[in-house]
Amino acid sequence: MGELRQIAIYGKGGIGKSTTTQNLTAGLTEHGKKVMVVGCDPKADSTRLLLGGLAQKTVLDTIRDEGEDVDLDRIMKEGFGGTRCVESGGPEPGVGCAGRGIITSINMLENLDAYTDDLDFVFYDVLGDVVCGGFAMPIREGKAKEIYIVASGEMMALYAANNISKGIARYAKAGGVRLGGIICNSRMVDREQDLLRAFAKELGTQLLYFVPRDNIVQHAEIHKQTVIQYKPDSKQAQEYRNLAEAVINNKNFVIPTPMTQERLEEILMEYGMMDNIKDDYRI
Ligand code: ADP
Ligand code: MG
Repeated sequence: MGELRQIAIYGKGGIGKSTTTQNLTAGLTEHGKKVMVVGCDPKADSTRLLLGGLAQKTVLDTIRDEGEDVDLDRIMKEGFGGTRCVESGGPEPGVGCAGRGIITSINMLENLDAYTDDLDFVFYDVLGDVVCGGFAMPIREGKAKEIYIVASGEMMALYAANNISKGIARYAKAGGVRLGGIICNSRMVDREQDLLRAFAKELGTQLLYFVPRDNIVQHAEIHKQTVIQYKPDSKQAQEYRNLAEAVINNKNFVIPTPMTQERLEEILMEYGMMDNIKDDYRI
């Protein structure tokens, strides 16, 4: 049995963190891996595809309704391929720090012995494009030692990825957390793969995998399934299996070297991004 790998997934909102994490997880289970997914987004949609849409009651809601003395099966549900699914939840919108749910959940999972020896992977699917105190919880608590950033060739996605890297670099210097690479979730931007490769290189990391954009992801989503479950023979399912393999075999872990805004714009310029933006805004 291998050592437990705890992985945090960051990236701009809507970039595809939850979709990619769940499909990647489904791919890992096909390799016989035991995986737990801990949703760290107040939206609580990090495990929906693994659970077949089953509404997973969040840890915070459970504690609110039933108190602290709950059994593990109240907050952890079994999903596709034997995955263990948890949703941290969050406070009412606009009230309190949403990161609090993460620490509460992690503590709860620890107290209830959810981190069993047979686990190969734990994924923390973390909200948003900032690594503020709350959302850095999985890495601050010394849980996740390995991070992947989901990005695309769109400027705001790369801007967010660079900011996240600044946060990671800060924690990496103090502890053992490392960046394992960039996962490109394609938005069909021109020269996207080359751009992401150059961006990753500048950060001192790698483009771990390029996930194509495919409508089958939406079809699977409507059926409340991962693509791997919905259409196991599809090309996109194979892409997610390849991503799973890339994660399994990854040996490239670094402290990222974030770039200045000017350097980021220079890279975007080199790959024609700024020209496109200028074209878009031409009057
Ligand atoms: P995040 O968790 O980062 O906020 P989601 O995983 O919820 O983002 O993804 C946002 C939307 O993008 C989803 O509704 C999904 O349908 C779509 N999506 C994600 N990845 C792909 C892809 N590779 N191809 C097509 N659609 C995708
Ligand atoms: Mg999400």
